[in-house]
Amino acid sequence: MSDHEQKVTRIIEQLKSHKGNTPVSLKKKAVSHEVPKTKDRRHLDSKIDISGLNKIIEIDPDKRICIAESGVTFVDLLNSTIEYGLTPIIVPELKTITIGGAVAGCSIESMSFRYGGFHDTCTEYEIITANGDVLICTPENENKLLFQMIHGTFGTLGIISKLKFKLIPAKPYVRVEYEMYNNLNDYRSAIWKHFKNKDVEFMDGIIHTASEYVLSLGNFADKAPYSHRYDWMRVYFKSTREREEDYLKTPDYFFRYDKGVTHVNPKSFIGRLLFGKTTGSTQVLRMVDRFHRLIPPDKIPVTIDVFIPFSKIEEFLDWYRHEIDFFPLWCVPYKARNYEWIAPRFFSKTNDELYIDLAIYGLKKRSDKNFYKMLEEELLKIGGVKTLISENYYNESDFWKIWDKENYYKVKQQTDPNNFFRDLYTKTCRTMIGLV
Ligand SMILES: Cc1cc2nc3c(=O)[nH]c(=O)nc-3n(C[C@H](O)[C@H](O)[C@H](O)COP(=O)(O)OP(=O)(O)OC[C@H]3O[C@@H](n4cnc5c(N)ncnc54)[C@H](O)[C@@H]3O)c2cc1C
Repeated sequence: MSDHEQKVTRIIEQLKSHKGNTPVSLKKKAVSHEVPKTKDRRHLDSKIDISGLNKIIEIDPDKRICIAESGVTFVDLLNSTIEYGLTPIIVPELKTITIGGAVAGCSIESMSFRYGGFHDTCTEYEIITANGDVLICTPENENKLLFQMIHGTFGTLGIISKLKFKLIPAKPYVRVEYEMYNNLNDYRSAIWKHFKNKDVEFMDGIIHTASEYVLSLGNFADKAPYSHRYDWMRVYFKSTREREEDYLKTPDYFFRYDKGVTHVNPKSFIGRLLFGKTTGSTQVLRMVDRFHRLIPPDKIPVTIDVFIPFSKIEEFLDWYRHEIDFFPLWCVPYKARNYEWIAPRFFSKTNDELYIDLAIYGLKKRSDKNFYKMLEEELLKIGGVKTLISENYYNESDFWKIWDKENYYKVKQQTDPNNFFRDLYTKTCRTMIGLV
């Protein structure tokens, strides 16, 4: 039995010895990157320990394929692939997001305008069902629906234990150019042009205010006249307002937002001087997780990604300025796909080729407004989708207008008939806010 098979066997033993119908949740080695929720009832769950799943099994530089266990973090993965001059296609911005979590929770990045999410670069998953069966899932085999549905369903259909995914050639540096626009119309046109022409390798941006729109366009480079890091005193998102171009070593580019995208910790100059070097997203999330009982829920700022159909971006931002008006926003263009987990009727409302992910990170909660709920209602109107990593208030009927209930339960019946992992609606819209 290989080392990996032994780990899988231990996970199956835990699942089989779990008694009763109480739900379980996963214990990983790396910290979770869901938005901390102090009332989340999963804190009380019995755990299935998958912390051993953190080895890269194979990198094949000729086929440009990597096989790795699901708990491998992107920082460890990139350190290994870069030795072969290769990189995963989607590298989410925070160092310790795991490859399994990136599939289950829909990770994205500045190559998403070409490739979609990390899941869209994967070719095979090994998934352990609640009954302890081990299924190999590809986009073509008998488990093809599970392959697609495991994406974005937050571990409610099984445990991803191993992934096979594509790599692409990387160069030592990334050169980034910043284009500044003072109105949304020109910004939209520029995004559309680069989306259609595919003339850059990376595209994201920061909307600093309603009249300052920065588009960050990156390409790999062999050489650099200088290179900057954004892991101590410098704050990356602020630099996009000040500079016309920049060079970063490739790993520094991928993790340029690791201290926080637009909600950077520590905030003050002195704080960064003293603690900035050693405090990244991992340390902050670990601390919040450890002390979750002591943190009042209203002190955890709104952290949400909303995916807006490209044709509705103007309408959405008009509404947003009127109702919420919080900036800066991180803007990540995302190539649309007909995901099996999105209800076809909802998706066909707009039929856009491109979505814009707007990340609203760091907005202070207010007692007179529930920003999460307001955003959900607006997204329902315009055909937008949000990630479920933060607080979710959908009622069940609205939720299944967006997520595909039929596909979901077809797979759930096969992989978790006794509901050990909870169903998607319960886990994300009820358990996380302390209801069941
Ligand atoms: C402050 C903040 C900033 C963020 N910034 C970014 C960003 O810049 N780019 C980006 O793409 N994303 C970002 N995210 C979202 C992040 O990509 C997702 O939350 C992702 O799911 C985190 O992966 P993780 O490894 O930490 O998984 P976890 O947070 O541990 O788990 C997420 C969900 O996936 C499930 N899961 C985890 N591992 C497995 C597995 N092996 N098998 C089955 N289910 C599993 C868990 O049960 C859980 O429901 C951010 C999140 C936060 C809180």
